[in-house]
Amino acid sequence: MSAPAEAAFQRCINPACAATYGVAEILTACKACGELLDVAYDWNRQTVPQKLTAFERKYATRRYPLHFSGVWRFKELLNFVSDDKVMTIGEGQTLLRPEGECARYCGLPENTVFLQYEGLNPSGSFKDNGMSAGFSHAKLVGAHKMACASTGNTSASLAAYAASTRSLPADQRMEALVFVGSGRIALGKLSQSLDYGAKTIQIAGYFDDAMKRVREVGKALGIYLVNSVNPFRLEGQKTIMYRILEALNWEVPDWIVVPGGNLGNSSAFAKAFQELKELGLIPRIPRLAVVNASGANTLHRIYNELGVRWNGGKYDRAAIETFYAQMDAEKRDANTIASAIEINRPVNLSKCLRALEWMNGVVLEATDQEILDAKAVIGRGGLGCEPASAASVAGLKQLVEKKIVSKGERIACVITGHELKAANATVAYHSLHGEDLVHELGKYGVRENKLANYPVQVKNDLNEIIKAIGDAGHGSWDA
Ligand SMILES: *Cc1c(COP(=O)(O)O)cnc(C)c1O
Ligand SMILES: [Zn+2]
Repeated sequence: MSAPAEAAFQRCINPACAATYGVAEILTACKACGELLDVAYDWNRQTVPQKLTAFERKYATRRYPLHFSGVWRFKELLNFVSDDKVMTIGEGQTLLRPEGECARYCGLPENTVFLQYEGLNPSGSFKDNGMSAGFSHAKLVGAHKMACASTGNTSASLAAYAASTRSLPADQRMEALVFVGSGRIALGKLSQSLDYGAKTIQIAGYFDDAMKRVREVGKALGIYLVNSVNPFRLEGQKTIMYRILEALNWEVPDWIVVPGGNLGNSSAFAKAFQELKELGLIPRIPRLAVVNASGANTLHRIYNELGVRWNGGKYDRAAIETFYAQMDAEKRDANTIASAIEINRPVNLSKCLRALEWMNGVVLEATDQEILDAKAVIGRGGLGCEPASAASVAGLKQLVEKKIVSKGERIACVITGHELKAANATVAYHSLHGEDLVHELGKYGVRENKLANYPVQVKNDLNEIIKAIGDAGHGSWDA
């Protein structure tokens, strides 16, 4: 394969193929072998700072939108598009916080467990990091109609970015077309897509059905797809890791823990660290833990039970095909309260296998009970999350119990989505007793709410209210 002439290009992740394509091509898979594509860089043609601290200088020029953005502040590390084509709505103003409640819950020392709050993005999930990059690529190729299939957050993000173009001249506007499964989407997310004016198609089926259809429709109507098979989106998601490093004063943590759905994040995170290592900007790569929900545990089963490994790109495709064929034959459908990771066929599976090798990774599964308990712990820190996000802390607890993570190691758990995305799950957990709880959440295997903070029902009477405050909740205000 001849060397690409450009400083940025697309490259097949299969090392035996390694076909390259220009950045202006719209592809979701390699034309030669069908594998996924990376955005790749000829670093000799890129101007990358010699030290990561150099990125901090951009704070001084925050009025410039590319320097304000938590994605494009790091543009030298995802430089596939010229500045004038970049689309930003101020994504990536997120924060890393040490969480004592989570550390205690997992049996780890204070100040070693950090939560990276991606729920603080404009549309309330990490998806904005990727959407900003996807929209920028769409602008580069001159696309105006954008579509995605979504469990909810991708559509909310797509709708938000398209909405930001509504007042622009007609030739710069972007339209949003959203495909969602029926009845499986959290209300908070659906409300965003409707509110921001996206054309929203509810398909009678699951995410995977919506995914299949959006690919077909995209092809038939020439619409730009921003699902996480889009390699440019993952470039934006790399920056979540840069921000974690930045918040740790550029020290590399020991672990990154992330929920796994379509596996775009895990793939992007490993690529971020692999590139930084290659560039000599970090001395080592942290380890990765990807946490499935037990009700949607394809990666766990393929990685831990079938033992499939990346193996230099020669992973056991037949084993995966057999697994999926069996899944279809048995009509095993994903089922978890963590709807953002309720995925049967993760589209970035092969990239994630590579990520697990690059980051010496592990894969876990957490039950919905574990997820909701961990979510309650995260909430007690004062910045809550939606159920899927809490899989990270539920997974960390297991990693400590299994002695895979040891005391003193520094861990960053990625909190992928905002609490208000799915407030119904939170209210159910904190307000229902016994039978009522099982009636509402039993279908997810949730039977307990040990960490519930019940609202106290009281008559509209001063003495009763004072009495109720006295023995409210946990017996003390700060149990
Ligand atoms: C999309 C999403 C995930 C899954 O991320 P992948 O990159 O698809 O693995 C997890 N949590 C939330 C809140 C999401 O929106
Ligand atoms: Zn290929």
